[in-house]
Amino acid sequence: MNLGRFPRLRFAHLPTPLEPLLNLTTELGGPNIYIKRDDQTGLATGGNKTRKLEFLMADAVENGADTVITQGATQSNHCRQTAAIAAKLGMKCEVLLENRTGSRDPDFTRSGNVFLDRIFGARIRHYRGGTDMDAAMAEVAGEIRGDGGTPYVIPGGGSNPTGALGYVNCAMELLGQAGEQGLRIDHVVHATGSAGTQAGLVTGLEGASSGVPVLGIGVNVPKEVQEERVHGLACRTADMLDTGIEIERARVAANCGYVGDGYGVPTDGMIEAVTLLSRLEGILLDPVYTGKGMAGLIDLVRNGHFARDENVVFIHTGGSAGLFGYRGAFADAMSCDPREADP
Ligand SMILES: *Cc1c(COP(=O)(O)O)cnc(C)c1O
Repeated sequence: MNLGRFPRLRFAHLPTPLEPLLNLTTELGGPNIYIKRDDQTGLATGGNKTRKLEFLMADAVENGADTVITQGATQSNHCRQTAAIAAKLGMKCEVLLENRTGSRDPDFTRSGNVFLDRIFGARIRHYRGGTDMDAAMAEVAGEIRGDGGTPYVIPGGGSNPTGALGYVNCAMELLGQAGEQGLRIDHVVHATGSAGTQAGLVTGLEGASSGVPVLGIGVNVPKEVQEERVHGLACRTADMLDTGIEIERARVAANCGYVGDGYGVPTDGMIEAVTLLSRLEGILLDPVYTGKGMAGLIDLVRNGHFARDENVVFIHTGGSAGLFGYRGAFADAMSCDPREADP
């Protein structure tokens, strides 16, 4: 697969490390769990959107944009990474935030990623949950054109074929590292949302005929909907790459049994996964994606889904800045409410 013909800006710190999680593996009694540290992509506390933005921002520059517009949930990691790279490239950034949980906790609405969006100088607009965010972005784009600017709209999560190229590249990087380490990868597991990450991984792993299966742990919609989304985007990504490879529907698997009450709403499994990884491995997960993704992986391990001698790679897609938007959710797991003032 040749990614070389697509415009790309290089700002991610790559390759990200691929390491064993020895303490977690011991705690759970196998399989062998590895982690790929895409939380360490280097841009503004890192995360998976950085890989996508290398291709998306290159396209924005090629199109002569002076302003990027994007959208996400209030604590969007994607918006934060977009705001950071826009700052570096000297572009204006319009961030449209949808309050999908309806929370009015000031930690949630102002701290974490929202605070970082502001530090990077993005213009923030808030919307109620359920707003048609694509229509809202089109409206902002019209405003900017009216003012003589040249906007470039990046879809939520950076999930279109251009963004997914970042995860085709990740798939190739992962296979290269596994080869160097003499590691046979039996499963790749990660949190899936707007679908670009899984679509890119599946396209890359299928394109390389690796046979490595990917399991996305869903964070919002039901399994069938998520799988269709990922499959559709993987097919469009494969078309854009001109691989001639057909992505079979059966190669796309999601488990959406760990969403709980909804997108961005904490679950007990998420709290357990975040505290377990922190205390066993010194690694921060996030409350919306990787916390639920890892909760799914842990539960599947406990239920004997993987053979003890299999090797499972969890892709850490980032997001720990979001923890600061969710301090209250951790009150029960700690001996105090982390929001309480000192006496
Ligand atoms: C966006 C995001 C995901 C999901 O990736 P998609 O490409 O949107 O499916 C997973 N983890 C984190 C931390 C994210 O910010």
